[in-house]
Amino acid sequence: MKSLKKLAGMIGIVILLCGIMTGCSGKRLYSEEELTQIHDVVGAVEQITKEFQYVIGGSIQSLLEDSSSRADLMDYVSTRKYDPDKKIIALTFDDGPSTDETNGTSDLLDLLEQYDSKATFFCLGNRLNDESAPLLKRMVELGCEIGNHSYDHAQLTKLDAKGVRDEIDTTNELIKKYSGRDCRIIRPPYGAADNDIVPTNVSQPFIMWDMDTLDWKTKNAASVISLVEKYKEQDWDGAVILMHDIHPTTIEACKTIIPELVNDGYQLVTVSELAYLKGVKLEPGKSYWGIDEKSTETDY
Ligand SMILES: [Zn+2]
Repeated sequence: MKSLKKLAGMIGIVILLCGIMTGCSGKRLYSEEELTQIHDVVGAVEQITKEFQYVIGGSIQSLLEDSSSRADLMDYVSTRKYDPDKKIIALTFDDGPSTDETNGTSDLLDLLEQYDSKATFFCLGNRLNDESAPLLKRMVELGCEIGNHSYDHAQLTKLDAKGVRDEIDTTNELIKKYSGRDCRIIRPPYGAADNDIVPTNVSQPFIMWDMDTLDWKTKNAASVISLVEKYKEQDWDGAVILMHDIHPTTIEACKTIIPELVNDGYQLVTVSELAYLKGVKLEPGKSYWGIDEKSTETDY
């Protein structure tokens, strides 16, 4: 495997650097800061090596190129274990987070933790504050991904360039402030990003969905469950599912949906993991109605 050779080469370079660093001359060649950086690289490479056998797409090189920082890199690989023989699916939750004590985002995070599953939360900027901050921290701890759903649910295609940038940039900053992570993906409200202004004024990809559970419309747990069960009969490998964690009925539905998906052999991953595992490089300003090879070839 070419990527494994590359990885072996990288480890070799790091070992060589460490060798030089502790060489016989007795003279220290690196500052404390540089030593820390080298140790960080060694740690990251060790982590990747451990996880690599479970990664079924892409390459270590593309992983490194895509990662803007070590924190992001570790976020990417973290401690995930993937079985390449099992299907993967990305549950996504918009419009939150919800600080409701019952059937809010916290209960959903409990469920995800219980079933060792990940999800992606496309948050609204105006819901990110000191009260919701613990939810964002917990999302990160559980390996979930946080995306941008604009500041106040604006239809971006109705705004001018400055308006688009304000909605997106403000929310990116709030996500960084409360989660400590850079935001890599956007879900525009109403899936609306297809004009000339929106794509050129953002630096992240637009992640749409394969299946809308209509949870926002029915607000009925049984309806959401039956729709998911119906769609699940089709080939769902690689699907992106749209839901909303601000509706208690959606969280109620997830108490059935998540265990059922896991029991059916689905691995619930984040959007970035799904793209990575499917070998799809997400490009800034591009809309993805589902993550597969076909969608990356189509300009929306
Ligand atoms: Zn929305």
